Amino acid sequence: MTKQKYGLNTICTHIGEIKDEQFKGAVSPMYLSTSYQFDNVDIKRYPRYFNTPNQEFLSKKIATLEHTEAALIFGSGMAAISHMFLAFLQKGDHIVVQNTLYGGTSNFIREEFPKYGIEFTFTDGYSVADFEKAIQSNTKVIHLESPSNPLLTITDIKGVSALAKDHGIISTIDNTFASPINQNPIDLGVDVVMHSATKYLGGHSDILAGAVASSQLHIDRIWNVSKNLGGSLSDMTVWMLERSMKTLALRVKAQTKNAKKLATFLNQHDAVAKVYYPGLKDHPEHALAKAQMHDFGAMMSFELKDGIDAMAFQNQLQLIKSSMSLAGVESTMLLPAKTSHALLSQEERDAVGISDRLIRFSVGIETFRDLKNDIEQAITKTKATSIA
Ligand SMILES: *Cc1c(COP(=O)(O)O)cnc(C)c1O
Repeated sequence: MTKQKYGLNTICTHIGEIKDEQFKGAVSPMYLSTSYQFDNVDIKRYPRYFNTPNQEFLSKKIATLEHTEAALIFGSGMAAISHMFLAFLQKGDHIVVQNTLYGGTSNFIREEFPKYGIEFTFTDGYSVADFEKAIQSNTKVIHLESPSNPLLTITDIKGVSALAKDHGIISTIDNTFASPINQNPIDLGVDVVMHSATKYLGGHSDILAGAVASSQLHIDRIWNVSKNLGGSLSDMTVWMLERSMKTLALRVKAQTKNAKKLATFLNQHDAVAKVYYPGLKDHPEHALAKAQMHDFGAMMSFELKDGIDAMAFQNQLQLIKSSMSLAGVESTMLLPAKTSHALLSQEERDAVGISDRLIRFSVGIETFRDLKNDIEQAITKTKATSIA
């Protein structure tokens, strides 16, 4: 385990820097070579082998932030997820997958695994007992997501990873929503952590990337598959990601602070029917979230009361963008039923509680008062047009 001797902001700023020996520049040089002279036969550097200087150094920052030994950086979050799964699963194996999770992960499993002869079970719920019930003799991986997209359910990470260990099963988690600033699943017993780096790690809605972090042993196993599948990230984008991550802790903490205040504001608002945010005392897993997260994060969902149209409300927003993706410095909202979870059937959405009125809110770094005023004016205008 990597000893965390520096504070979070120092790790974000300095770990994984490449020293510019030649010119003493302040930032890491960008190495775009796809070809490197052999001076050490043990290291054959090639971008698809995940070992160019920029890839290698940035993975140190990610591994350090996730309190583990090693990491790989991918071309997207889905590349990270698919390569991670395919490293631990083969024909005849079985995976247990949490029922409430990112739509793309669920599509990947449902659409691709039958072609590989990999069996899967989506849990009925997200309690430890729900995971236990789904385990079979050929189960090799248990995959969880907490907080989950878009309902912010909280899974008992310690409980599920202990269950997996008892059965000799690899546990994997999608830690995108919390980011390493708000949650470190390796410390709770999970084997492999993945991120869509498109979200908080990138943070500015201009990078598509993914990452997987774990022990060197597991990362070697994933590397063996990943070098064949070819999902590495270009070094130009790796460099941008390193720059973005210097402010990761600053951004996420500012976003989380805003989110806590906005969740309280929405929860007390008479036009709001329900708020899903683990930081609220009435969230069903509030105590669990408090115990296993460093802070509650900057993602939430909410429903407006009957008669206030969610789509009309979004169209009235002036500052908060109604758009796909999340975790950027700018606040965004979307309707999961129409976007991220549109490929699920109505029954599947109903089963996990994603109503057509559910609005997912990714809170940015803007001034709290401005976000609050934007929501307030949009509600007022939507109410006025509904009555008219
Ligand atoms: C966006 C997202 C992904 C997929 O990442 P991409 O970078 O879009 O491939 C996976 N999991 C979660 C929770 C996400 O929000």
